Amino acid sequence: MKFQHSYKTLGADFYQSAKPVQPSKPELLLWNERLAEELQIGELTAQPALAAGYFSGAEIPASAEPIALAYAGHQFGYFNPQLGDGRAHLLGELEHRSGQRLDIQLKGSGPTLFSRRGDGRCALKPALREFIMSEAMHALAVPTTRCLSVVATGEPVFRDMPQAGAVVTRVAASHIRVGTFEYFAAKQDKASLEKLLDYAISRHYPSIDINHCNKAALFLQAVIDKQIHLVCEWLRVGFIHGVMNTDNCAISGETIDYGPCAMLGRYQPNTVYSSIDKQGRYAFSNQPAIIHWNMARLAEALMVLETGDDFQTIIDQFQQRFQQRYLATYRKKLGLVEHTAQDAELITKLLTLMQQHQLDYTQSFILLEQALSGSAPSNEIAPLNNWVVEWKDRIGFDPERKKAASELMQQTNPLIIPRNHHVEAVLEACEQAQSGEPAKEFLAAIRSPYQPTITTQKFQSTDPDYDQNYQTFCGT
Ligand code: AMP
Ligand code: MG
Ligand code: MG
Repeated sequence: MKFQHSYKTLGADFYQSAKPVQPSKPELLLWNERLAEELQIGELTAQPALAAGYFSGAEIPASAEPIALAYAGHQFGYFNPQLGDGRAHLLGELEHRSGQRLDIQLKGSGPTLFSRRGDGRCALKPALREFIMSEAMHALAVPTTRCLSVVATGEPVFRDMPQAGAVVTRVAASHIRVGTFEYFAAKQDKASLEKLLDYAISRHYPSIDINHCNKAALFLQAVIDKQIHLVCEWLRVGFIHGVMNTDNCAISGETIDYGPCAMLGRYQPNTVYSSIDKQGRYAFSNQPAIIHWNMARLAEALMVLETGDDFQTIIDQFQQRFQQRYLATYRKKLGLVEHTAQDAELITKLLTLMQQHQLDYTQSFILLEQALSGSAPSNEIAPLNNWVVEWKDRIGFDPERKKAASELMQQTNPLIIPRNHHVEAVLEACEQAQSGEPAKEFLAAIRSPYQPTITTQKFQSTDPDYDQNYQTFCGT
């Protein structure tokens, strides 16, 4: 295992050196064998005790140099100039077999200088939750950080009640956030801001020339385009992030921080599950507006560089660019290969009906595809019958066209998502057993969202209560 440390070369203002606490009894509960292979550390699969040591803080790999990163962020709209990794340690970067350098970060590995009142720990359930949800998102082909492992520490963490503690190892394109830019901007530290910009460009947007006089504007536009893609992917699969603070908004365009996230069941656009999001700021359908807001915060941070770039125009064009992506996303969901001027209306009509009749979001698109391919005309989507006539007419009756539409829909619409009640049941079973074993069948199912497996039906079933009282929690 050979860690690199490119982020550390930015200098001491960007991080604090920090040692993970050594857990007394590390035990490997989940290990991502495929990801380990990709990271070229596949040999650890046969050495679970060694892996548990490395990925819990019990043993620091020879080439690792653990640090906690500094960042700021807007939380629920309010600026906090000093957040930082309060319970995470970046061990360094490993090279993915694709050649990409990826951050390897322990989370729940003890306090740092950024912990404030927090204990630096993570409970077992949220650690497992991050593993399961990020693995599901990766399989769904949504850009995301991933998890290499979950290691039980053998030590309790004190929340409402004592709970088992764990360390989750997160693998990310990087941990640079909008909040990292805000951190240096708030301090008016132009030199660091520029260093960060050049680093972020070379790591994530290498097609931008760092000697270009408009590099800041080019960078902002590139980040916006990645974020628009990301949020449209969330809409495609029904993902609700839950805490889109600017410190949880990665410059790489990956989904990051799986605290209070959840999946949409019935199509209700203002769905919120996070217990602390009383105003619905981070509701399902509000996510594009929040990305726009977060990108305006990034623009403001970049303005401190006084490059004379016209960021306002870029921010003003967000809505138009988003709308194009949004239409493209729903066209794919509906198998519309060619574009017409009426597509937006057709899409809106469908979503309005789905909302009126409280239809299941994931299931509706599966049933629509079946209605098209003739495999199952279903009374479950009876409220959509008139709309379906219009839609089929739009696709056309030529068998080749119908086939192409069906194929596009099958590639776009998942057969299974990590439904909230199944995730919670799996977490509960793991906690009871103090083992990762009860998660394995579910993980196998959600790793195959576009190809049915023997357990797809079992885990695609909806909650009898339809998540009416479901709540998620941050930072537990
Ligand atoms: P999050 O809500 O996970 O994005 O976390 C926001 C901030 O709170 C970050 O600076 C975290 O490092 C910090 N934080 C969350 N939980 C803890 C904890 N248990 N101990 C210390 N810091 C924490
Ligand atoms: Mg966070
Ligand atoms: Mg969190």
